[in-house]
Formats: sequence, C-alpha cells, structure tokens
Amino acid sequence: MTATATIRSETRPGEVPAPVAATAGGATVFSPLAALLKPRLSAAAVVLACEPLARRTTLKVGGPADVYVEPAGETDLAEVLRFCRDRAVPVRILGRGSNLLVRDGGVRGVVVCLAALAFAQVEVQGPLLRAGAGARLKQVAAEARRHALTGLEFLEGIPGSVGGALRMNAGAHQAWTFGVLERVRWMTPEGEAEEKPASAVPAEYRSCPAFRTNLALAAVFRGQPGDEAAIQARMEAFRRQRQETQPREASAGCIFKNPATIPAGRLIDELGLKGTRIGGAQVSTVHGNFIVNTGGATAAEVLELIEWVRVEARAKRAVELETEVEIVGEDSV
Ligand SMILES: Cc1cc2nc3c(=O)[nH]c(=O)nc-3n(C[C@H](O)[C@H](O)[C@H](O)COP(=O)(O)OP(=O)(O)OC[C@H]3O[C@@H](n4cnc5c(N)ncnc54)[C@H](O)[C@@H]3O)c2cc1C
Repeated sequence: MTATATIRSETRPGEVPAPVAATAGGATVFSPLAALLKPRLSAAAVVLACEPLARRTTLKVGGPADVYVEPAGETDLAEVLRFCRDRAVPVRILGRGSNLLVRDGGVRGVVVCLAALAFAQVEVQGPLLRAGAGARLKQVAAEARRHALTGLEFLEGIPGSVGGALRMNAGAHQAWTFGVLERVRWMTPEGEAEEKPASAVPAEYRSCPAFRTNLALAAVFRGQPGDEAAIQARMEAFRRQRQETQPREASAGCIFKNPATIPAGRLIDELGLKGTRIGGAQVSTVHGNFIVNTGGATAAEVLELIEWVRVEARAKRAVELETEVEIVGEDSV
C-alpha cells in the first residue's frame, strides 16, 4: 500500500467534499484540507495528503506534509496562496530539499513545490539566462555552457533549484547567486506576481530575507561571453573538487554557516568530532561540516548531533555555530 494518495477531483462546486484518506504506516489520515483545495486547481496540479518529506529532501529524514501541492502554473499557485491565507493555513515552499532538515513530526499546513514544467524552463538570450524557480541549478549551468556564457559554472554542483538558490543566496568557488543575478520574478503572499531588479533585493551571506515571504518564480542571470571548452573544463574541475572533498552519503550539504574566524569544517575537524555518531546520523569522516544519514537516521538524531557539535564548539573554542541548513516542522505529528 502506498503511503500517500492523490486526492480525487470528483467534488462538484458547492458540494462539501468528503474527507480524503491517505494511509501512513497503516493508520488512515483524513485530509479535508486537501479535498477542498484540489477542485480549485487545474487538473494538472498535484495534491497529495500526508506526503512523506523524507523522500523529497537530500538528507532523507523527517515526517510528512499535511498537504503537498505542485501547482501547474502561476494561476494555480496564486489560488493556493489565497486559499491558505483565507483559512490561516501555513504555507511553506520546498525546492529540491537540499538545504532542509524536516523534523520527525513533519510540516503542518500546505507545502508547495514548483516542480511542474511551467516553472522549470531555462532560456538564453544574448548574455542573459532566464530560469524558472523550479529549474535545477545543474541545468542552468549546463545551458549557460551550451551558449558559451561564463560566470555561472559555480552552480553546477549545488544540488538545489533556482528558487532555493535565491532564498539561500547559494554560492561556491568564490561566487554566489546574487553576484550574477539581474532580475527576479516573485509572487507575494497575496498571490500577486512582481518583477524586481536584483539591486532592489538585498541579500547577504547564505540568505535573501525577501524570500522569507515572497515566493520566487523565476530569475534572470547575466553571464559573460566565454569559450565553451574552457567553461566545460572549469565545471569538470569543480566537480572533481567536490568528489574529493565531500561525502557521497545522504546529507543536506554544510550544516553550519562559516563563522568569521574559521571555516566550520576545519573547526569541527580540529575538535576531533569527525565520525561522531548518534544513531544513524554521523559527522562525515570526509568533511567535518557535513552530517550524513548512514541509513535509517531520524531527524531527532541529526538534531541531537547538531547540538552536540555546537556545545563542543562553544565550550572548547568559544565559537557560536549557526546552522546553515534550515530546520522546519514539528517534533511530533
Ligand atoms: C551535497 C550538497 C552540496 C551542497 N553544496 C552547496 C554549496 O556549495 N553552496 C551552497 O550555497 N549550498 C550548497 N548546498 C545546499 C543547497 O543545495 C543550497 O542551499 C540550495 O540553494 C538549496 O536549494 P533547494 O532548491 O534544495 O532548496 P530547499 O532546500 O528546498 O529550500 C531551502 C530554502 O529555500 C526556500 N525556497 C525554495 N524554493 C523557493 C522559492 N521558489 N521561493 C522562495 N523560497 C524558496 C525554502 O522554503 C527554504 O527556506 C549543498 C547541499 C548538498 C546536499
């Protein structure tokens, strides 16, 4: 039996929909919220009740979303936002889940993911590359290379989406998302689409606060004319560097932001914490700033390990470590 069920769209206008059931761990879960939402969206939209988020994050831990929605386009997305606002239902946006730690109790309310094709287009015009928020960063880097545009190679190995990269101001190899950003298109919590020049959207190290409330729809990046073979060589060098320095197991990338005084990975290494394990969660033996899921880890175990590292850093080096990974959801259902 599958752990989720697609909500059927048999509800007629004016009808009170029957609660829709999904099965999770043998227990039946009813979702009147999902049943009310589904008929308001286009037929191509995906609405799932009690959807396990562990399978939608790279760390592969955590509980379910009450309701998980993939809108088919901007009209659907605006409808989801208005529906939730009118009922005071919390909304959270999920990209490719590569910077998220979902607690074991899962996420209450509606989780929206821009996985539909309408949000994943990448187009190049001259030096400008326009990408939907759901596009993979790897795809953005590959398209830039195909059009001999340099400057976007650093995105190649970051396993996120354009939306997640905008929210996190993701970066690598001395480059970062807002360094190559020209314009953004976003949707306000009221469901209005707006375009802004990058200069009007303040961003900082691993954060763009504007995306705490607004949902990224698309970005326009600026590349520089370059040589395709040289771009390819740079991307391969970056890829090799990652393969040599990062673990292969499931992770959420760097767990902590780098403190001003020392890279978090080096600090954790110097504290002798590499390999420290709680249940299925382990400080990577390859890179101290990664916590890996060695198989069957729970979010509680990962959280306990994070806390252990923070306590050690504080006690032995007086360094306050701040998480880069975003911790979301509840401890229990
Ligand atoms: C192996 C590995 C290596 C990594 N290497 C790097 C690296 O080199 N550099 C780096 O910066 N990061 C790195 N990361 C972390 C991660 O890939 C980035 O932070 C990435 O930008 C997250 O994108 P995502 O789509 O997975 O977002 P998610 O993890 O799904 O979400 C992250 C945040 O973005 C928000 N969000 C997602 N989509 C939208 C949207 N459309 N509008 C508004 N908010 C949105 C979410 O609500 C959440 O707050 C790595 C992760 C892994 C697993």
